[in-house]
Amino acid sequence: MNLTDRVAVITGGAGGIGAALGRRFAAEGAAAVVLADLDAGAARAVAEGIGPVAHGVGLDVTDEAQVRALVDETERRYGRIDLFCANAGVATGGGVEAPDADWDRAWRVNVLGHVHSARAALPAMLRRGQGYLLFTCSAAGVLTAVGDAPYTATKHAAVGLAEWLAITYRDAGVRVSALCPQGVDTPMLAGGLAEGHLGARVIAASGAVLTPEQVADATIAGLAEERFLILPHPEVAAYARRRA
Ligand code: NAD
Repeated sequence: MNLTDRVAVITGGAGGIGAALGRRFAAEGAAAVVLADLDAGAARAVAEGIGPVAHGVGLDVTDEAQVRALVDETERRYGRIDLFCANAGVATGGGVEAPDADWDRAWRVNVLGHVHSARAALPAMLRRGQGYLLFTCSAAGVLTAVGDAPYTATKHAAVGLAEWLAITYRDAGVRVSALCPQGVDTPMLAGGLAEGHLGARVIAASGAVLTPEQVADATIAGLAEERFLILPHPEVAAYARRRA
């Protein structure tokens, strides 16, 4: 897929990676970019910075009705959704002893949020016989050596869900990719470091932190090749090849 004249929705669109994807999709000639985020004001500010093709709205991906309303409103306004990026995510720290409330929050945003996104976006894509779902997962979804337990477990679930969708809907014209970065200079990484999360500390110490713009570049290349796993960090790509 290339982005020219495409209609794209990005959840977590006010965050570091979501905003970079939005800017890059607009630069690639997208017809419309909808940035949806828990922080509606920040989403609107990012959209204003991008220009008239972008639109910022409030969204909580853990509330299925809100995700359905976002899809309905986007289709009413722009006629279709070509690319739905389920990108919203949270990094709750801790090991297996992390409180159930943290496990629950990680599960609801990182996994159920993607389930809600797929359920809402798929019907119209299947009717049209085309569409693209991009799930932002994480290198923590393909590696087990780094990261905090709730984050690693939920990102593995997100990669598994993406692969299930990719296999199930490939013949119906819907493509699915799992974007798996590792260590990106965004508020999430800064927050993890501030709270002393193990994953953030390991990543910062590795010195392999990318900018959100580098992740957006890798995403454009991955979408063009319709690659299932999009691995912006070369060392993660090398590990995944060895593991395969
Ligand atoms: P970020 O914190 O800058 O952005 C995340 C955005 O998601 C925020 O704007 C936040 O408001 C939004 N969000 C959180 N909960 C939400 C909800 N319930 N509904 C809607 N929006 C919600 O972090 P980021 O680094 O840009 O993260 C984007 C994605 O990339 C996440 O899925 C994250 O897990 C993944 N990721 C990040 C890194 C990294 O090192 N930064 C590495 C691998 C994967």
